[in-house]
Amino acid sequence: MTMICTLCPRRCAALRDAASGAGFCRLPEEMRIARIAPHLWEEPPISGTRGTGAVFFSGCTLRCIFCQNAEISHRNAGRPFTPEQLADSLRRLTDMGMHTISFITATPYVPRILETLAIYRPPVPLVWNTSGYETVETLRMLDGAIDVYLPDLKHYSPRMGRLCAGAPDYFDAASAAIREMVRQTGTPVCDGDGIMRRGTLIRHLVLPGATGESIALLNWVKDSLPEGIPVSLMSQYIPCNDVAVPGLRRRVTKREYDRVTDAMLALDLPGFTQEEASADRDFVPVFNRDESFV
Ligand code: SF4
Repeated sequence: MTMICTLCPRRCAALRDAASGAGFCRLPEEMRIARIAPHLWEEPPISGTRGTGAVFFSGCTLRCIFCQNAEISHRNAGRPFTPEQLADSLRRLTDMGMHTISFITATPYVPRILETLAIYRPPVPLVWNTSGYETVETLRMLDGAIDVYLPDLKHYSPRMGRLCAGAPDYFDAASAAIREMVRQTGTPVCDGDGIMRRGTLIRHLVLPGATGESIALLNWVKDSLPEGIPVSLMSQYIPCNDVAVPGLRRRVTKREYDRVTDAMLALDLPGFTQEEASADRDFVPVFNRDESFV
């Protein structure tokens, strides 16, 4: 199959066929996947005690310069998967007792994922783990199929969106996308094990020297979304890929992270904070090896 792709806010209108793609993401129309495996290190309502069945799709529509998974997000590592093959993997993850199934950076493959779910729909919550750089039109294709949205909310100013990802429209796109996610799923509903059955959980990674951006984003959440939408405040930034922006060549200090945590507390936003020990490369999963697939 070939398609003219406008699935993400880049709106390349590029030709994608089975084997190659001419858009910003350079992805073909067929699914490519770098890892399918249990993953224990998401937030407790996503991973629980048994883990989420994580499907790491190849490529990314945002491609942050500091991405710690650049092997798959920038260089598109992975192997082709048909909907039938992915459905089989989802069955295996379900049989392994995963609390949830997570589709990670899956936006370029939405039509193929919907085909997969028509073959096999896991009986556990489906999580859409995304950079937040989404269009409302594409999210509407997922309405009713996805139970839990797990979007990043990364940058407030056009300057930071441009510097970090060549996407000055990042906040405009992500804020509209998150409103749509909340419209579809509402405030979180958890089961007796504390696993999210439905809802939206926003992630924000604090960047060095950018606490003002973080606080502006928290204020937007408070002012623009219904009460009860949780925020997961992450401290795990590590400078990867020889990042060329000078201010981003160090980790976040404890003082910076505390400043943003204090702002979140003052705004009375529910959510999660992260241990300092999480800022470690040991948490970067291994991709595209035989042991990477269930
Ligand atoms: S998914 Fe890829 S080809 Fe499609 S609009 Fe986005 S970057 Fe362009």
